[in-house]
Amino acid sequence: MALYIPEDVIETVRNASDILEIVSEGVQLKKSGQHFMGLCPFHSEKTPSFSVNPSRGIFHCFGCGVGGNVFSFIMKRDGISFPESVRTLAVKYGISIPEKEMSPSARREESEREALYAVNKEAMGYFKSVLFKSDQGKIARDYLKERGMTAAIAEEFNLGYVPDGWDHLSRYLSGRKIPRPLAEKSGLIVSKNGERFYDRFRNRIIFPICDMSQRVIGFGGRVLDQSLPKYLNSPETPVYNKSRSLYGLSRTRQALRETETVHIVEGYFDLLALYMHGIKNVVATLGTALTREHVRMLSRCGVTKFVLVFDSDDAGVHAAARSIPVFQKEYVNADILVLPSPHDPDSYIRTFGPEHFRSESEKALGIVPFLADSAIRKHGLSIEGRLAVINDMKPVLGMVEDSVARSLYIRDLAHKIGVDEKAVLEKVQEHIPETQGPVQDEPRAGRPQVHVQVSRFGDMERQIVAMMLQYPQMIEECRNHGVVEYFEDPCFKSIGRMIMEYRGDMNTMASILTTRALDEETRRTISALAIGDIPYLYKNCVNLLHQYITSRKKMDNSLSQRIRLAEERNDQELLIRLIHEKNMLSKTMKNNGLSQKKILNSGIGGGKSI
Ligand SMILES: [Zn+2]
Repeated sequence: MALYIPEDVIETVRNASDILEIVSEGVQLKKSGQHFMGLCPFHSEKTPSFSVNPSRGIFHCFGCGVGGNVFSFIMKRDGISFPESVRTLAVKYGISIPEKEMSPSARREESEREALYAVNKEAMGYFKSVLFKSDQGKIARDYLKERGMTAAIAEEFNLGYVPDGWDHLSRYLSGRKIPRPLAEKSGLIVSKNGERFYDRFRNRIIFPICDMSQRVIGFGGRVLDQSLPKYLNSPETPVYNKSRSLYGLSRTRQALRETETVHIVEGYFDLLALYMHGIKNVVATLGTALTREHVRMLSRCGVTKFVLVFDSDDAGVHAAARSIPVFQKEYVNADILVLPSPHDPDSYIRTFGPEHFRSESEKALGIVPFLADSAIRKHGLSIEGRLAVINDMKPVLGMVEDSVARSLYIRDLAHKIGVDEKAVLEKVQEHIPETQGPVQDEPRAGRPQVHVQVSRFGDMERQIVAMMLQYPQMIEECRNHGVVEYFEDPCFKSIGRMIMEYRGDMNTMASILTTRALDEETRRTISALAIGDIPYLYKNCVNLLHQYITSRKKMDNSLSQRIRLAEERNDQELLIRLIHEKNMLSKTMKNNGLSQKKILNSGIGGGKSI
């Protein structure tokens, strides 16, 4: 069970949070009218349909339908619970959540994820103090010095060390009263048949891995000698998902945004070396292939140029071919930078310095030209060599979905190897999947959508709700006429009732209602209706109300007529149903203290009835 956070604290945090600032941490926004638009971080798209309205404190994506307030955004972005999102923002804006809420008994009720963050944080503190403050840490300090790492960089990235032995961390965590099952769940402690417990990381330099909010989600460990495995990572846990984590991103995000360029390296030391020498726009993959989620995370930080950095041609060729579909699906291009043998990024930057690195990075080739060049280098330009080059490039070119890009690559390759373009095209043709159409945005199936009206009056009811959300002065008008109680559509009715009951600040109503919404569909519907522009003037709003009430009245009339017909035909079953419907309708009107006459004379007239 989640920990209870008092309503007023939630409000304080919500008021302190700047939704524009929070969203901008990962999404580039451009002002457009009273909104800010950007590429949706939650689905793939080429044209922005993600909108933020800072004055109402809400966001909404017209592409995939997600929406809500600042809490919903953080929950979705970081995959966390509501209380966690409140706490994340509280920390960010320096708001303290009442002390008693953090008592030991309350702590036990904290979600598992939060407990895991806490364990990781404890462990990080332990590893760090061993590295910096203990005699045992000297060997690791010397090792880092030898690799050219400064104390400042080790400090900034919270590096640590754990000496050789089976239970250094286990004993430390027990001493901190951390339950063993939790320590085991964090992946830091391993057990054999549930009894013999031992540390996962032994005699290793430790690299804490953080999420975007700087919480420690896992660890990487590297040996100091030649023993194997050279690198070891935390297993996946409820807080650590490798395909969604990039080492260093929480620190380098700002540089990525400023340069719009990212260098993607493979190792921890590669990243630290580049960063230390001023190449701060860098992230490291964590022993996994680059995923679409990685690319998307980087795009959200404003990256438009991706440079994959490798220390050998073989590694580059291998990874490049695999990553074509990944980049393509996210509509971005990537370049490949292979450093001259025998250098890795770490040794390269120490030998040649950052300026050289930058200029090499600028000269880096796109994935396809890079693969073509390396195939030519490998096979040469003899007749057999050229055939082998075409053979190697067939599947690569077949993977390029954009037909214009593909034909340009084919022309380029044909020119490079001195072969007729048509002949190359013919060879490649068999590798182009037949069904391949134009690249489309990711399908939206399986996601809860914005509510689609189900009733006869749904469209008008939707407009009335939008009107109340955007023109708070209309709320009183609607209340006076009890309009919401006529609503047939259950979703619009529940939102309408929430608005009627709302008594707070009108500017933040939409944002607060999304917190109160009980289900995802309602939340999305509120954000969609509150953020969308309705081109209404006040007069039109009044007309809309009038039209709606008139239609409901007509409906009542037609009901009476249908009842008469059913009586004539003696259709008992239909008759019962219609009478019931009519009773419901008049009950609503009566509850609202309205007669039909009163509605017509109420002064909200002026429009045409439908
Ligand atoms: Zn979206």
